[in-house]
Amino acid sequence: STQIQLIARPVGTPTPDDFRVVTEELPALADGEVRVGNEFISVDPYMRGRMNDTPSYIPPFRLGAVMTGGAVGRVIESAADSLPVGTPVLSFLGWRDIAQGPADQFTPLPETDLPLSAYLGAAGMTGLTAYAGLLRIAGLRTGETVFISGAAGAVGSVAGQLARLLGASKVIGSAGSAEKVALLKDRYGFDEAFNYRDGAVVDQLRAAAADGIDVYFDNVGGEHLEAALDVLNRGGRAALCGAISAYNTEGEPTGPRNMGNIVTRTLRLEGFLVGQHSDLQPEFAQRMAAWLSDGSVVFDETVVDGIENSVQAFLGMMKGANTGKMVVRV
Ligand code: NDP
Repeated sequence: STQIQLIARPVGTPTPDDFRVVTEELPALADGEVRVGNEFISVDPYMRGRMNDTPSYIPPFRLGAVMTGGAVGRVIESAADSLPVGTPVLSFLGWRDIAQGPADQFTPLPETDLPLSAYLGAAGMTGLTAYAGLLRIAGLRTGETVFISGAAGAVGSVAGQLARLLGASKVIGSAGSAEKVALLKDRYGFDEAFNYRDGAVVDQLRAAAADGIDVYFDNVGGEHLEAALDVLNRGGRAALCGAISAYNTEGEPTGPRNMGNIVTRTLRLEGFLVGQHSDLQPEFAQRMAAWLSDGSVVFDETVVDGIENSVQAFLGMMKGANTGKMVVRV
């Protein structure tokens, strides 16, 4: 089986030299184990943080060990009654073509019309992130205006559509290209959208939000968060999901300076981790399945072929090469 390992801790933007491809012989299955042929693996922004040797909510990747992370596939050999051959499963065993281990390391997935890759994105972790962030963290209410950065990505494209379904009256998004801005309006139903590379975020946001914003779903941090703090209405909330603009930055990232607005406009900023909201998973799974099947939510994926190209997929995603969820087809 083939796997991708981290072999050096990147400083700034990672390079292919920080990784290696390793092929190994797998042992025979022990009792209670299964062997899974991965079909898609996930590359995610949080993985950049795990490449650093710094304490965080999740331990650093070990050097010389597989890049762990979400993957979906089917059982191809089984020594566990609970997971017969053919069962679609989700695991966290990462960037490898074959995953093998005790059956409890694999979560069975429903057989639906969705491609398995959807369980890494809209119907999976990134979809739940959008749901939890809007509903529980931001406390989105009917009739509010929502601004979402990173809006053409995996979390953002779903967040835009969920905001509408959960009652927002106006949804604004930002992304890094004209093509993505067009998609936000034409495909994901954003009312207003802008390319953050076209000018100061605060000016473009003000122009898009004549009546201010009530909720900010932050995927980007930095200048975007600073702009949102300027434009949030009294009582506004920001769900701090991520700050990808700083992940590859060496030294201190730029950040919001106008913190006074938090006081004078009685704003609430709250960071969150999707893993702490897994109690929402059952209701999310049920509602999302309905929204996906009746077309209320659409999703896109950017697919890179070949497990050996996982690093390029990851590096591309960090630079905006993806629309919707970036996945690797094994
Ligand atoms: P995306 O699919 O959104 O991919 C990352 C995107 O980030 C790129 O496509 C790119 O789009 C954008 N980007 C890269 N650099 C910058 C920059 N300097 N300024 C603005 N945008 C930039 O990834 P995800 O949807 O998986 O993740 C989105 C965010 O959500 C990340 O911050 C991630 O860490 C966070 N997250 C947090 C979770 C949690 O539990 N809190 C769970 C999952 C994700 P563009 O072309 O528009 O620049």
